[in-house]
Amino acid sequence: MMWKDGRMDEIATKLRDYKICTACLGRLFDDDPATVLETGNEVKAKLGLETSEDSCDLCGGFLLNMGKLVENAFSALEGFEFDNFHLGFQIPRDIIELEDEIRSELKLSSGLSLKKYASAILTKEIAERTGKAPDNSSPDVLILFSIDGSVKVDPLPIFVEGRYVKHEGMMSALTAAWRPIATVHSDGVQSVEQMVGMALKEIFDATGIVISWTGTDDVGVTVDGKGRVFYAKIIGARRRKTWVIRSVNRRWSSVNLPLIDIVHRSDVKVGLAERYYDVVEVEAELDDGMGQNDVRILEESLKDVMIRLRKVEGDTVRDRVRRVAGFRVIAQSGSTIAARLCAEHGFDLRKLFSCEDVERYSRERADPSLKTMIARTCRKLRYRVLDVLDECDSSFV
Ligand SMILES: [Zn+2]
Repeated sequence: MMWKDGRMDEIATKLRDYKICTACLGRLFDDDPATVLETGNEVKAKLGLETSEDSCDLCGGFLLNMGKLVENAFSALEGFEFDNFHLGFQIPRDIIELEDEIRSELKLSSGLSLKKYASAILTKEIAERTGKAPDNSSPDVLILFSIDGSVKVDPLPIFVEGRYVKHEGMMSALTAAWRPIATVHSDGVQSVEQMVGMALKEIFDATGIVISWTGTDDVGVTVDGKGRVFYAKIIGARRRKTWVIRSVNRRWSSVNLPLIDIVHRSDVKVGLAERYYDVVEVEAELDDGMGQNDVRILEESLKDVMIRLRKVEGDTVRDRVRRVAGFRVIAQSGSTIAARLCAEHGFDLRKLFSCEDVERYSRERADPSLKTMIARTCRKLRYRVLDVLDECDSSFV
């Protein structure tokens, strides 16, 4: 046994002051979870103690019904997809302090704390019955036991990288600025963020979504091609393994999410720092038709604009220089003209040309008006992002 026989009386006297269950008696002296109950019974016999089977000062009764704890854990886990898990315990401070006091008074250096013992026993049981592995470094779910035996499952956040496509049909619904997804109801979806968030909530059966963007689109700008990159933290996800099946049909309430991947948390920061390039088309409707000469003049004028844009290396808004890689006038039919450019995302599209009457020059802004360039009044400008690329040069436009 773990003490000199001369101390038996002292230990027995002290322990008689408390109600102690067999498991708690055993774990005061034994550091092998597998033999704790056996040791408890041995100590009980040797010291002539009574153990309590209805309450316990050292575990608050927690260890008295392990079967029930496992059942509670199973009920709480219902509906959660996971490959691995970790257990957590909420043990009141006074219970921990009482045990520390007894251990110190009896000079017990071995044994297992309530948390270590419960964790060892319950982890083994849950692993065997679910076939899932314990993992304390990056578990899918935390199974949290309270001292009263109640169990809560806390799924750890998942991080995803995705892309969204914003098409014409979505425009009428997009009227508001960003609001946190958690507060949005399906009938109040008003922004791309909300649409993407609602879709992700459904795909992952999640309770909340936090989206980070590599940028945002101006109101009225469609995004096509591979789509705009976003990152999202998926909170409270129940569907952690079969979400791919859900995302096969990639369209929810008119948002299109062509690609979603699970990424590591650290990849999000790296991804957000990456540069993306938009292939942008700007289309203008003119009051009058254009002749061949007008087109030539416009191309020449826009070349000037381009040279100026390159000189300032794009847009220095938000302390970052935006690179403009390629540019050309692509179509002229009747009274419509269009120009394309490939520019780093975040570039101010209005710098290409405007429908305003006055040509405005400043050191960092171009804003040339069509009226100045080709003596035409334009009524309407339409911006479209045709694709989002990792890199671009003039061959992409
Ligand atoms: Zn106990």
